[in-house]
Amino acid sequence: MRIATILLVALVWLSASLTTTAAPVENVLLVSWDGLRWQELFGGADARLLTPEAKANENAAEVKEEFWADSPEARREILLPWFWGTLAKEGQVYGHAESGSPSVVTNGLNFSYPGYSEILTGSVDPKIDSNAKKNNVNVTVLEWLNQQPGFEGSVAAFASWDVFPYIINAERSGIPVNAGWMPLTVSNDPEHLRFLNQISDETPHYWGGIRFDFTTFHGAVEYVKARKPRLLYVAFGETDDWAHDKRYDMYLASARRTDDYVRRLWELLQSMPQYAGKTALVMTTDHGRGDTIDDWTGHGAKVVGSERIWMALYGAGIPAKGLVKNAPTTQAQVAATVAHLLGKDFLQANPEAAAPVKP
Ligand SMILES: [Zn+2]
Repeated sequence: MRIATILLVALVWLSASLTTTAAPVENVLLVSWDGLRWQELFGGADARLLTPEAKANENAAEVKEEFWADSPEARREILLPWFWGTLAKEGQVYGHAESGSPSVVTNGLNFSYPGYSEILTGSVDPKIDSNAKKNNVNVTVLEWLNQQPGFEGSVAAFASWDVFPYIINAERSGIPVNAGWMPLTVSNDPEHLRFLNQISDETPHYWGGIRFDFTTFHGAVEYVKARKPRLLYVAFGETDDWAHDKRYDMYLASARRTDDYVRRLWELLQSMPQYAGKTALVMTTDHGRGDTIDDWTGHGAKVVGSERIWMALYGAGIPAKGLVKNAPTTQAQVAATVAHLLGKDFLQANPEAAAPVKP
């Protein structure tokens, strides 16, 4: 072959390999919804919990009127209109076991601290067996990326639950973690920030160390506008707390509100040149819950089925596959997936981490 022919073949091969390997994105938004069941994610409101007998609603008839439709597809769109109307159509959803894609927690405990540690570190530390406020000895993907060139000081977290500074080990990692009832401190608009802190503080401190999600959402919005982090983690909490309180009406309302918070965060990012077309969204939950009218409120090692979770990928670098079939996933894959989307290999930091989900 003449040199020109060899060059041409090489060029064709190079461009083909470039188009089949997704280019890394520049930013990732990682979102978790505490304890939102796969049952509601894939099927919308659960008929068994909308009856007066379930004693899960202040007014079962009104709740049914608001959230019911005959098919699971219609019900889930009523509950999570952005997730099913936009994300699922243009992105990827994992966790539908009936389609051969179960998504599971592997820590065996099915409650929050072990779940968030599995999500963020990519592996299971059996010594993490409570929700106690103890600094995580394991390095999260947030901490590791924060040390990589181009990411320094560009990682942040907002969370409703006040244990997150320990899960992320804010002290050692240096990652700003705004959580629980901590005041918001970053905004381009000090007057707006002052008002947000005032109304947040004036809401009932209903669950002790857990604030309502609206503060977490607005804090994240202000932080994005002011600091433009390349990796932002937002951990919503209310779905879990309303479920523990046996308030299915509030659980559903909270899920729908969170869906809208994620839409608004995503649309804000797409309105900013740093993020538009260069950002991926990774979304999941820390655990499932029980599947019966008696145990849907709870979760844990002894609650059957509460190891079942879901995850979703959306945005730049994520081909539209909708409900992904025959692709089992685990909670431990989330950490390496976040790094992989950014063009990094998290297994270099934690060789025990589960492999990334390659979209
Ligand atoms: Zn819980």
